Amino acid sequence: MSKDKYATWGDATKLVHGGTIRSEFGETSEALFLTSGYVYQSAESAEARFKGDEEGYVYSRFMNPTISMFENRMKVIEGAADGRATATGMAAVTASLLCFLNAGDHIVSAKALFGSCRYVVEKLLPRFGVEITLVDGRDIEAWKAAMKPNTKAVFFETPTNPTLELVDIQAVADIAHENGALVVVDNVFATPILQKPMQFGADVVCYSATKHIDGQGRCLGGMVLGSEEYVTDYLHDYMRQTGPSISPFNAWVMLKGLETLPLRLNQAQTSALNIARFLEEHPKVNKVHYPGLESHAQHDLAKSQMSGFGTMMAFEIAGDKDAAFRLENALEIISISNNLGDTKSLMTHPATTTHQRLEDDEKAELSITPSLLRFSVGLEDEKDLINDIDIALGAV
Ligand SMILES: *Cc1c(COP(=O)(O)O)cnc(C)c1O
Repeated sequence: MSKDKYATWGDATKLVHGGTIRSEFGETSEALFLTSGYVYQSAESAEARFKGDEEGYVYSRFMNPTISMFENRMKVIEGAADGRATATGMAAVTASLLCFLNAGDHIVSAKALFGSCRYVVEKLLPRFGVEITLVDGRDIEAWKAAMKPNTKAVFFETPTNPTLELVDIQAVADIAHENGALVVVDNVFATPILQKPMQFGADVVCYSATKHIDGQGRCLGGMVLGSEEYVTDYLHDYMRQTGPSISPFNAWVMLKGLETLPLRLNQAQTSALNIARFLEEHPKVNKVHYPGLESHAQHDLAKSQMSGFGTMMAFEIAGDKDAAFRLENALEIISISNNLGDTKSLMTHPATTTHQRLEDDEKAELSITPSLLRFSVGLEDEKDLINDIDIALGAV
């Protein structure tokens, strides 16, 4: 199928049909090629494949038909020239940076990051001679001031985990590009449906497919998407030679997850907005962080760079850590879990789980207070979720 054909398709069609490769059996559903290797018709053919003179699969560490289908579907939905699937979201983030950075390079990153992303930026990269500057991602002047002649990349997520702060993708991309730096965006919270960072100047987009793309809490996976040049010159060899590859089975689960992604997102984010409004009115809730609320400090930015406000929110209750724990322990339907983007609604206490490793002053700087809870809205009936939280707030 020609690439141009996709140009006229809507997102839902792309997610059902994009990148499908049919085998000789003409199967309706995408086939699962659970194979590590491939056989060749002849010794000459094996030689030609290794030389790159003959098209075809060689080894599933870097090529597999099911993984290709997942990569191609993600390319189509993102509008990216190329991409590679990875074993986890963290493998994707790490690969996206390590594949092209060198000792002596500098990167600027937002402070508010998923805990493991912050480890990669703050602890891992400096061990290999990459200089880093952390900034408040909301502060455009801070991004400008942090740029240096050796700045090779800027990195951020938007909305951020756990407090749903936004970064103005276009404004930061303009600053980065003026300085010749690549813009790498972790788009997990927004998903490929609700925000298209490349339309605002991002060069590389990373996903944890573990979250909304699987969306049913089963498999780990990730994806890095970028230009043909980025993938050919850097990412492909990094993936091929170091091997953070996704299992074909997990890629198949993700591929099927993509088909229902818009339906699941629409249902969950409709509930999310109503739950956020309920929480905002509740006397035992001090603050609700949800980009869809008029009270969110960056609501206008959310409207301009997102097509929906997502399924994630955080809220601060009137009380301390014990009160937050009492609320979690009183939940009946909602589970206590640090995962997100699942069909099951999940509540987490970031200060003692996902962001436990941060120092107290770092937590304070990111508004990760002892009374903050992060909530991933699932597909249960909205009234049951509101009722569950309402009863649990009674225990606060
Ligand atoms: C979960 C998550 C990751 C890491 O993904 P894994 O699949 O768990 O490795 C990275 N970034 C963000 C924003 C996440 O929420």
